Amino acid sequence: MPNDAENSPWTKPVTEALRAGPDTRVADIDTDATPGFEGDKELGTRLLEERGTYLSQLQEKLFANGRSGDRRSVLLILQGMDTAGKGGMVRHVIGHVDPQGVDHASFGVPTPEELRHHYLWRINKALPRAGQIGVFDRSHYEDVLVVRVHDLVPERVWSARYDEINQFEREIVDNGTTIVKVAMFISLDEQKKRLAERLERPDKYWKYNPSDVSERALWPAYQEAYQAMLDKTNTEHAPWYVIPANRKWYSRVAVGELMIDALERFRLDWPAAMFDVEVEKKRLALS
Ligand code: AMP
Ligand code: MG
Repeated sequence: MPNDAENSPWTKPVTEALRAGPDTRVADIDTDATPGFEGDKELGTRLLEERGTYLSQLQEKLFANGRSGDRRSVLLILQGMDTAGKGGMVRHVIGHVDPQGVDHASFGVPTPEELRHHYLWRINKALPRAGQIGVFDRSHYEDVLVVRVHDLVPERVWSARYDEINQFEREIVDNGTTIVKVAMFISLDEQKKRLAERLERPDKYWKYNPSDVSERALWPAYQEAYQAMLDKTNTEHAPWYVIPANRKWYSRVAVGELMIDALERFRLDWPAAMFDVEVEKKRLALS
């Protein structure tokens, strides 16, 4: 259902509460915080269920319009360190909508074929079709994050990518896609807990990668890379939202609201019938 402003636990629009600004300092983010939200886990979890239903109604309208020639779509870009909760975000937020309306892509270490192409090649192929919600679990931002931290290409190469990414996103937006960029931040301690859990539970071994532990030593370098990403690619056409993610229930309900906001801005209506309804009723009655 649409928001009931009177009873909403949100004290300000989530787009305002979470929008990155020129003063955003990655090192200073309170990863336990719940910006703009006055309520506990129980309320947040319950609200996500309600709002998930509303999100799916909006998505169905987007899909219906897409089938009727509307070019628009929404692309959710999820960035965050290992265990930040990107996969859970897809299951618990995007999981509310009809899977046929979702174009999902995750980006890992590039394949040999991908490495033979420009880094935006695999991204371009995965962009959402008209009427779809696209989700990127990691994205082209890896090419200025892990690539920068590990010197996988020379500095002069990765440093040119920020402007190139801004330009690339400009074109995507001009083609009718709203981009929702979400940077999820957990603390080093919280990551340790989550990795420890993966080692305690056989059903989570598959998510564990021994290199995740080595990456922890590079935390400051990653923070620097995330800072540069926010500083250089927080554009008007594709702004960043900074999500404290130690509390999973908060990050999920917050991103749910960001998606609802993006879809509401389309002011979607059901597409008009492409046939004469009265004529069809008569034909059906006689059939
Ligand atoms: P996961 O999300 O746990 O499946 O891990 C995917 C891994 O792929 C992460 O360690 C990323 O840093 C890595 N990765 C993603 N994109 C790139 C890239 N362009 N170059 C190198 N590594 C990447
Ligand atoms: Mg991983």
